[in-house]
Amino acid sequence: MEGNDNPMSAANSAPRCTAKSKRTAERCNGPAVTGWQVCRFHGAGGGHPVGKAHPSWKHGMRSRELLEMRRLVAQLGRETREIERMI
Ligand SMILES: [Zn+2]
Repeated sequence: MEGNDNPMSAANSAPRCTAKSKRTAERCNGPAVTGWQVCRFHGAGGGHPVGKAHPSWKHGMRSRELLEMRRLVAQLGRETREIERMI
């Protein structure tokens, strides 16, 4: 920031948090964390990692990938029976 000797001007010009308070119904307007739309109080950087890195991962038999795979296999079975009925 040229021409501005206030060291806080860079911090004050940071993007603002877009979260809205349930209590006051007003925008938070705290400084948003870099790469996020919200401040550190409103969920920036939060959430568990997906897949094997998730803390409650056990064996992967119910992972998103496998659930999708089972859904496809079931659909294939249905379609096979449908075709068998036609011939
Ligand atoms: Zn916020």
